[in-house]
Amino acid sequence: MDGVLLVLPDHWNVKEMDSLLSKGKHVLLYGFPKQLSISNEERFTFQDLTFEKSLHVDSRLSLVGDQLLTLGFDAGLVLDVTAMSNKFVTKTDVAQAVSISDDNLAGGKQYTRLFAKSNEKGGRLVWMDFSPNKEDHAYSLNLNYFNGLIASIFRFLDQDKPTYQAIALWPQGKKFAALLEEDTEDQYYEAQRVAEYFGSKNYPITWYVLSNDAQQYKSVTRLLAETGEMACHGDNHQPFILNSERQQHMRLARCKKVVKALTNQTVYSFRPPEERHDNTTFSALANNDFRYFIGKTAVDRFVPQLYQNKEKTKSIVSMPRMGSDDYSLWSQYKMNAEDSINTLKHEADWVETVGGLYMFSFHTQYMGDDNHFHTVTGIADYIAKKPVYFALTSEIGEWWKVRAALQQKKAVSKDQFAKYQPVTLKVSKTGQLERSDVLFE
Ligand SMILES: [Zn+2]
Repeated sequence: MDGVLLVLPDHWNVKEMDSLLSKGKHVLLYGFPKQLSISNEERFTFQDLTFEKSLHVDSRLSLVGDQLLTLGFDAGLVLDVTAMSNKFVTKTDVAQAVSISDDNLAGGKQYTRLFAKSNEKGGRLVWMDFSPNKEDHAYSLNLNYFNGLIASIFRFLDQDKPTYQAIALWPQGKKFAALLEEDTEDQYYEAQRVAEYFGSKNYPITWYVLSNDAQQYKSVTRLLAETGEMACHGDNHQPFILNSERQQHMRLARCKKVVKALTNQTVYSFRPPEERHDNTTFSALANNDFRYFIGKTAVDRFVPQLYQNKEKTKSIVSMPRMGSDDYSLWSQYKMNAEDSINTLKHEADWVETVGGLYMFSFHTQYMGDDNHFHTVTGIADYIAKKPVYFALTSEIGEWWKVRAALQQKKAVSKDQFAKYQPVTLKVSKTGQLERSDVLFE
């Protein structure tokens, strides 16, 4: 094979391309085939792609993790790339990137923006609905990631390049991860029915408790510790953002000490009241040996992120929220039971598609209502049936650090290996994605 064929939009013909690929050619196609612009057909198929007429095209894409072109990229990474046509959308079961709706939360139609495939004749195809030239896109496009993606596309198409590999995003090579947590505060006792349900199903759950309330309801608190992971939401519900570092430090220490005394669990995770925090919060957390944090909304990706304290001596893993929480469902949008569960299922499906972390956060105050309670148990049941790493905050957080250590070839303990069973994904000489267990060294 001699080089890569680049074919411009409207200049390619489906039959010709099929023929080139079957002869082992490497082809990069932009945009849509000539047939589409002259045909009256509503639908057109080519390889594993289906092109359809449409009235609206979302302007951004979100990378699907752990695929041929996206190994090593964060799942869900959002790029502001403008589609070449706003008249067509594309579908496939194996996208490298999908469209994302214009708000920052998980969701959209899952239309394909990028596709890759190899065949037994040695042919390789990359199809994309956007231009590889940065000048054709919005000013807001992150060029580091865009250039990285384009490099990855050419690496796949260049058969002389060596094989490449990465540690899979989730333990045991699972498609995506999920985390459910309850802010356990007002009407603290309502956590009991949630604990009983999660306990009976053996589902993981993390309780972010206010320690002043935990002291008032000691037997409920012990039940929570038996069914899930104890975490801190504060010593009371006053926002931390108003406090000095010393005050934040003392409040975190107080919560940790009370929970330890009541349950004998050591707390490593914190979710600030009202999700409000500042840079000081990360230092106060690190200095109290907190390791995991929930309080940020996903901005441009759907995986955890590492933050450091001011001294850059310790890192905190932040688990972003990337979809609705109970507040948006029931206070902001006042959704009924059916719409609530359908919204959550749609978001979970979307996160599964991109291979990210699904996180749902809810409060004790809402659990007195049967519809709300059944929405929470319903989404837990729905997730548990999927190919998911459904886990506690500390497990997902620790894994994220273990994965970073493996990527940097740093030491990982034997216990961590046994627990997380990391998987390597490799693009082979023939352009296939191969998986293998990482061997303990
Ligand atoms: Zn709260």
